[in-house]
Amino acid sequence: MNTISRTQLLGMNCHQLEEYLLQVGQHRYRGRQIYKWIYQKDVNSFYEMSDIPKELRQQLDEISVVSIPRVLKQRVSKDGTRKFLMELDDRKRIETVVIPQGEEREARYSLCISTQVGCPVGCAFCATGTSGYQRSLQSYEMVGQFLSSRRELKRRLKKNDDSLISNVVYMGMGEPFFNYDQVIASVYLLIDPQGINIGQRHITISTSGEVKGIKRLAEENLQVTLAISLHATNDHLRDQLVPLNRKYSLDQLIEAVDYYIKKTNRRVTFEYVMLDDVNISRVHADQLIKMVKPLLANINLIPYNEVEILPFKKPSSTKVWQFYHWLVEGGLNVTIREERGGDIEAACGQLYVKER
Ligand code: SAH
Ligand code: SF4
Repeated sequence: MNTISRTQLLGMNCHQLEEYLLQVGQHRYRGRQIYKWIYQKDVNSFYEMSDIPKELRQQLDEISVVSIPRVLKQRVSKDGTRKFLMELDDRKRIETVVIPQGEEREARYSLCISTQVGCPVGCAFCATGTSGYQRSLQSYEMVGQFLSSRRELKRRLKKNDDSLISNVVYMGMGEPFFNYDQVIASVYLLIDPQGINIGQRHITISTSGEVKGIKRLAEENLQVTLAISLHATNDHLRDQLVPLNRKYSLDQLIEAVDYYIKKTNRRVTFEYVMLDDVNISRVHADQLIKMVKPLLANINLIPYNEVEILPFKKPSSTKVWQFYHWLVEGGLNVTIREERGGDIEAACGQLYVKER
């Protein structure tokens, strides 16, 4: 039987699965059992769900499906970062990255999820932005990236450890808030203590500045971290670097962030890509201090990861530290993002849409 006519169970929360099981003439509690098999146990088929009666396993196999993205290829960086090329049901392809955290190599990973195939924002410096846009992902395809990556890691590292992935960042391909409902649905699945159980504070969503999404997130009562891709301190420059700025000016963006902070009392991160000779002068530092100091916020500097076909350059480390010190002296909380997976084009902004 082909999968198109079957019901996709991945992406359903526990309640929805219970309802589904009722609908197909079963007991509600079977939904809860199946929920655990799907999100906690990494089984490959209904037949492995050992506490489910045989007839029900067969019935499920006929009427439903749990399809996670297929890992077509993986590349491993010398720093342990892995980039997976994954294929979705409609054969579109995305990239997902897992990055080892901390000292103990291969103990805990951070997962970088894609939210769209390509990205419609088209930032001037980003490989994803220049490789076109195809469609948004469904929540099951985002959670699927998690399950598929965890399965692959367990297999490759020969570790049967369900908590191998401890952090999730929505920083792969795509603008998460252009796909708000599906992204948030996937967050709720990731954080469910009865399911995947990632700590809310271990999740970060990065937006290029979709103001409506920022305001909606403020209403969610979630403890996730919001990151804003700022990258410029005046509208003229930001219009060129992040075209979404032509829709929402910097003033509108900062006002939305201020609203978010007041509403949630949560600290926000401003990401700032460092482009040589473009946005890292003393003047830019002063503008950045003025803009960010009144807010409950950190700055995360990202020295540019060069993309072959784009003209931007990474600044020297002297310039990176100079800019860092200006900001620190100006009273900001600043970190510098360490480049991971650069040798396999898995660093921030290096993910491309891969055509078949
Ligand atoms: N689409 C989301 C997530 C992107 S990836 C967003 O734009 O916020 C996370 C960060 O990497 C963003 O701040 C993004 O602007 C930045 N980035 C994109 N391309 C980059 C590159 N080539 N080098 C360094 N950072 C880059
Ligand atoms: Fe899209 Fe983010 Fe890349 Fe901009 S930086 S093009 S928003 S993926």
